[in-house]
Order: sequence, then structure tokens, then C-alpha cells
Amino acid sequence: MFKGILIEKDDAGYRAAVKEIDESQLPEGNVTVRVSHSTLNYKDGLAITGKGPVVRKFPMVPGIDLVGVVEESTHPEYKAGDAVVLNGWGVGEAHWGGLAQKARLNGDWLVPLPSTFSPQQAMAIGTAGYTAMLCVLALEKHGVRPADGEIVVTGAAGGVGSVAVAILAKLGYTVAAVTGRPHDADYLKSLGAAEVLDRSLFASPGKPLGKERWAGAVDVVGSHVLANVCATTKYRGVVTACGLAAGMDFPATVAPFILRGVTLAGIDSVMCPRADRLTAWQRLATDLDISKLGTISREVGLDEAIPLAASLLKGEVRGRVVVDVNK
Ligand code: NAP
Repeated sequence: MFKGILIEKDDAGYRAAVKEIDESQLPEGNVTVRVSHSTLNYKDGLAITGKGPVVRKFPMVPGIDLVGVVEESTHPEYKAGDAVVLNGWGVGEAHWGGLAQKARLNGDWLVPLPSTFSPQQAMAIGTAGYTAMLCVLALEKHGVRPADGEIVVTGAAGGVGSVAVAILAKLGYTVAAVTGRPHDADYLKSLGAAEVLDRSLFASPGKPLGKERWAGAVDVVGSHVLANVCATTKYRGVVTACGLAAGMDFPATVAPFILRGVTLAGIDSVMCPRADRLTAWQRLATDLDISKLGTISREVGLDEAIPLAASLLKGEVRGRVVVDVNK
């Protein structure tokens, strides 16, 4: 038996609780992992609370991230004792995930835990941090360099935003952090933000084009915030869009794209090919100041993860939450 969060949906309703689970219930897979830590991402918040249609099968163990040690493997690349990380691939949505002491997975989904990171640090990064790195890689791919000007990061005090601010600052970019939590300005400045802007400046419907300001952007919010960021991006600037914290809509015009040559780069971490994941984790090992992870994250146990999921969706959780599944 092992302990894990189990989400059930039946005539009695939608509910998540910590349960003792029999190993015979684990799904199919060629690698069994003794999980040490998982995390809480926005998507985990949706899964645990049922506020978004994330879970595609019931019962489900949520947790789109996990780190642990291989217990059994018939996969050619992994053997017992290997330390591994998993992000995405529909785990915690369609396949049992990381918010439990054991997971059985397809070995193709795993990447080796980079030696630079402890298991806790890998989960302080988690999908949020790995997605932030994918955004930075996309800015670089499209030619945005520190000398080009300011990069705006929205939802900056959240998980993706916090890590994006820290990476960009370390790489020498000038970062403007947009937040609905002005009281967290010192936190954002400690991560490297040069300026902290109030979310209200971006949250209402704006003009198709505004004064050109940003060389690049990392947007986790969507909706009017993303539209306003695009409208104020400089000629040939690049906007990376990865989230929908304010909504899935995109009430914009084509003006920034056809008149200023702005690029809107979509970022997906879930099905991202393995080679790009390995690059992202390698770059996290060199371009994220590990000492910042202590400021960005806090650790909780499985029991605490359930109420925190609701707080996270309300935008009340700062930075990242690491879940020690054995606590
Ligand atoms: P998170 O920790 O909850 O951060 C989201 C942040 O967005 C909040 O901290 C808040 O930042 C801001 N926010 C929340 N509600 C808002 C609203 N109504 N209007 C404007 N801003 C709002 O979540 P996360 O894990 O960083 O994920 C952020 C988003 O990225 C989510 O939509 C998630 O689904 C998405 N995501 C996508 C991928 C992908 O593969 N594409 C991967 C990871 C995450 P402030 O308090 O600073 O304002």
C-alpha cells in the first residue's frame, strides 16, 4: 500500500482526499518510481478542485510533476536506483500522477534528474519552471537579446512568472514584472525584477496598438493582459504565451503582428519533445540561480496540498509549492 491523493467523481460528487492505495491499482507502465516529491501547478489546482476539466479518467492521482527513484524498470534507459524527473505528458490528467508515494509510468516520459538539483529543487522548478525556461528559449530562438530592451513578465508572483523573472534577470535582461500583488514588489525585486507594474494597467480592454515598450514578453495570464502586452510590444518583438490565469480568450487585433512584425510564440510543456525538455533542464542547471529557489518555493505534505489547490486558483499562492509526499 502507498499514500496518495485520489480524485473520485461519481454520484456522491467530485472529491479529492489522501487515501491508502493498493499497488495493484497502479496503471500500466514500464517504470515504477518511488516518488519523493511532487508539486502544485495551476493545472493541479484545477484537477484537485474540479474547477477545470483537467482530469480525463476517474479515479485519478493528480500531479503533473514528480521526482523520485526508479524501483523497477523494463525500459532500456532506466534501471533501479536511477533518479528521474517527470513533467507533463498527460500525467495527473489521463494517467496517474505524482501526488502519491508511487507512480508507474512510460519510461519515454522520464528525464534523468540533473545532478545540479536535489529532488526538492527539481520540484521547486517543476512544470512551472521548466515552462518558464521554454519561454526564455523561445525568446532566444526568435532573436531577442538583453540589449534589445525590456522583457515583461505577467503573473509574475506565480510559479511560471517567478522562475521566468529569476532566469531572465540572471541572463542579463531588464525585467518588468506585472503583478496583482503590489505588496510582493520586494519579493519580485529580490528575484531580479528591475520594475514592478500593477496588473490593473493591463487588465482592461486596450487600443489595438499602444506605445512601443517591450522587446519580449512571457505571458501566463492570457485575455486582455496578453492583448495589451502584444499591443505595446516593440517592432519585431516576441511575445511568448503559455497560460490562461485570467482567461482563455484573446481579445486582440492583428495590428501588432501585421504592422509591427510582432511574433506570438505559443509554448506547450505537456507534449514538448524530449530533446527540447533535455535542453530546457540543461539550461535551468546553468541559467537559474539555485539560491533563489529557497525564496521562490515552500514545502508542504500531501494533506496540505488539497486546501492549497483552491488558494492557488485564487492567485493567493506566491511562487512554487513543493509537495513532500512522505511528510
Ligand atoms: P500560478 O502559480 O497560480 O500563477 C498564476 C499567476 O497569474 C498568479 O500568481 C497571478 O500572478 C496571475 N493571475 C491569477 N489570476 C489572474 C487574473 N484573473 N488576472 C490576471 N492575473 C492573474 O500558476 P502557474 O503554475 O504559474 O501557471 C500559470 C499559467 O500558466 C496557468 O494558466 C497555467 O495553466 C499555465 N501553464 C501552462 C503551461 C504550458 O505548457 N503552456 C505550463 C505551465 C503553466 P500575480 O499575483 O503576480 O498577479
